[in-house]
Amino acid sequence: MTVTRFAPSPTGYLHVGNLRTALFNWLIARKAGGTFILRLDDTDPERSKQEYADAIMEDLEWLGLTWDRVERQSSRLERYHAAADELRAKGRLYECFETPTELDLKRKKQLNMGKPPVYDRAALSLSDEERARLRAERGNGVWRFLLDHERIEWEDGILGPVSIDAASVSDPVLIRADGQFLYTLASVCDDIDFGITDVVRGADHVTNTGTQIQIIRALGGAVPAFAHHSLLTGPQGEALSKRLGTLSLRDLRAQGVEPMALISHMARLGSSKPIELCDTLDEVIAGFDLSSFGAAPTKFDVNDLFPLTAHLLARRPYAEVAEAVEALGVPHDKAEAFWNVARENITTMHDLEAWWKLCRDGARPVVDPEDEEFVATAMRLLPDPPYGPNSWAEWTAAVKEATGRKGRALFMPLRKALTGLDHGPDMAALMPLLQKVRR
Ligand code: GLU
Repeated sequence: MTVTRFAPSPTGYLHVGNLRTALFNWLIARKAGGTFILRLDDTDPERSKQEYADAIMEDLEWLGLTWDRVERQSSRLERYHAAADELRAKGRLYECFETPTELDLKRKKQLNMGKPPVYDRAALSLSDEERARLRAERGNGVWRFLLDHERIEWEDGILGPVSIDAASVSDPVLIRADGQFLYTLASVCDDIDFGITDVVRGADHVTNTGTQIQIIRALGGAVPAFAHHSLLTGPQGEALSKRLGTLSLRDLRAQGVEPMALISHMARLGSSKPIELCDTLDEVIAGFDLSSFGAAPTKFDVNDLFPLTAHLLARRPYAEVAEAVEALGVPHDKAEAFWNVARENITTMHDLEAWWKLCRDGARPVVDPEDEEFVATAMRLLPDPPYGPNSWAEWTAAVKEATGRKGRALFMPLRKALTGLDHGPDMAALMPLLQKVRR
């Protein structure tokens, strides 16, 4: 039974980078008919906010990435206490009292000597008296997990075989001096208890995975299959981290990006398979293959989402947008025809309103100086609305007859006179929707 989880900290809004993690884990679970857990990593009471937890769920719902259950780390503190006790009893958790300044100094010294800045385990050789004295002077220490100095190896679902020398990594702090459990311990306990079988997360977690594998083993748990996807960069390969604030899922939604455009893009970006625009999540599930993704940083350009959105809308059947179209005030009997005319001429659903206004109120005519006389003649030949399916053909034939113009010289000035634009829908289809003409 496949069980995956998406584990955001509710300390901010989801962005395109998080979406990749969420999507991959969701796809693995759904493809296998397994379980997808939304886990809120909210052990930090100061930074975690309910408002963000709500926003995360809202964003996932917008995308259709449904979860089977929600777990919150803040409600599992007892379990983390028990796990810490177990690790202490096994001699794998030890208390350290160095101040941040002392640690910094140690790191600098190591770097100066050309050594990796790994915690030197000085606290391990403290006597009971020294520990008691330090605790009295400095308060509680932090608790570190004692790594086994071995090579930690796993077959990564994206990176292939990975091998980490545990001696090159500092013993991770699992509990802060104020008693707060840190992500590493909480995550490991949850992965064990919830029977997580597959973990996909960003490549920034590779070292964490090494240490977590040892902690899972120390607690007697089963090690899940791990895969680390590359991190996203901007279109020029620049770090995206600073811009992620403007690439939040809610921003994209506000800009009119369609969920299936975003998902189709993300389900393929950085893989060896071409991007395939899917109308449904089932199609995405069917075409998903984790092993097709590469390790290289993946370039992401938000502008790619708009042509995909436009394509998706251009082929969307009326039934799926009926509500949104009628919400604009398009009369019921015109709504389907309006959609069929407008859908190929919009980038996002936001553009629909301008087309409807044009149909309802008419457009200010745009007339090039050399066409003034021609358009004046044409407008005299144009009856008032309502128009029918033949109105355009009849009118243009009459104008052709009266002026002798044909082809583009005939049609373009008329289009501009009626719509104020030099592009847009098929005029024959648009005319029956025009309720007003501004002359
Ligand atoms: N809360 C962690 C993060 O957002 C979860 C990482 C994980 O998947 O274990 O980075």
